[in-house]
Amino acid sequence: MLPRIVVAGNGQLGQMLQQAGAPIQLEVMPVDPNADVQLELRADDVITVEIEHWSDSVSGLQLKQHPNFRNKVALHMVIDRQRQKSLLDRLQVPTSPWLSLEGDDLQAQLESVGERVIVKRRRGGYDGRGQWRWQKGNQPEAEWAGECIAEAMIPFSHEVSLVGARNAAGEKVFYPLTCNWHQDGILRASIAGLPIPAEQQRDAEAWLGRIMDDEGYIGVMAMECFVVDGKLLVNELAPRVHNSGHWTQEGASTSQFELHLRALAGLPLITPEVSGVSVMYNLLGRNWKPEWLSVQGAHVHWYGKEIRPGRKVGHVNICRPDVPTLAESLQALGAQLDEEDSVVAEWALAQLAS
Ligand code: ADP
Ligand code: MG
Repeated sequence: MLPRIVVAGNGQLGQMLQQAGAPIQLEVMPVDPNADVQLELRADDVITVEIEHWSDSVSGLQLKQHPNFRNKVALHMVIDRQRQKSLLDRLQVPTSPWLSLEGDDLQAQLESVGERVIVKRRRGGYDGRGQWRWQKGNQPEAEWAGECIAEAMIPFSHEVSLVGARNAAGEKVFYPLTCNWHQDGILRASIAGLPIPAEQQRDAEAWLGRIMDDEGYIGVMAMECFVVDGKLLVNELAPRVHNSGHWTQEGASTSQFELHLRALAGLPLITPEVSGVSVMYNLLGRNWKPEWLSVQGAHVHWYGKEIRPGRKVGHVNICRPDVPTLAESLQALGAQLDEEDSVVAEWALAQLAS
């Protein structure tokens, strides 16, 4: 008997986990962990997360206290940026220079990190929220003390991420590194399947593998990195399926959502194969447009959420066999997009050309 997978969080990640479970007869039940309702959990349910923070509500406590709540240790380490950075240091995984802001001499602490610094709230930030840019000469905010870490601003050439999965037996599989473009801290698009320097892939797999082993992690974890002079520096970890892995829904033989479920349910974990080139393009506060479906290789994933400015309401994966055909599709998609979005197609086309 396969367990039922209960997901703490009922946003798009939970929804896509549910979709991935259906064809393999895995029941996936996303729930709101902030609700004050008694959930009917079974003793053999397996609990996983799509979000990292929730309140001590009735449902929230029930989920946290369930004996099959997976990856408790990893979540504890990762949900606080100070603990997360300390973990990276302990495991000798290269990351940007940082310190925890404490006490009142913040100016000197910030200066010791660098001339340009990013201050990040230790808990609860996402999509670039809970972050401040600071540079020498600026006045620090007193409330950063005890609440934030300070990180050197990294002059990266681009950003990549690694998505991997580990099962209870310690077997691990990885996708190729994905190249990501963020704007104002929000992921606009990813591209996967272009040649990646072997050393970067090897380093990234070794580090994420070490982190997952250290935590006894089960399921999918993502690791965001900066590329500086061709070398990787880890930015942050996500103990869950990740936006930069959405292209795997159609761009890989097994998606990140299915791999996560397989690992949790004790089903075989196989190395995902990637043959073509894929672009994942986030739909931010957009209205649904049937014209997207006219683009060859485009797969639209619409989350059915209320549309608000900047909110992730869906994504389009464009998967094609090679660079020239993907470029054709991107041009066709570009023609269907308004100006604010056409920069995304331009970015992806520039990646293909480089
Ligand atoms: P979030 O949890 O919001 O994704 P991140 O730490 O990943 O937070 O920051 C969001 C984005 O901000 C990153 O993808 C990157 O583009 C930029 N950023 C974050 N930290 C740094 C840094 N130390 N140097 C330069 N850019 C950064
Ligand atoms: Mg991030």
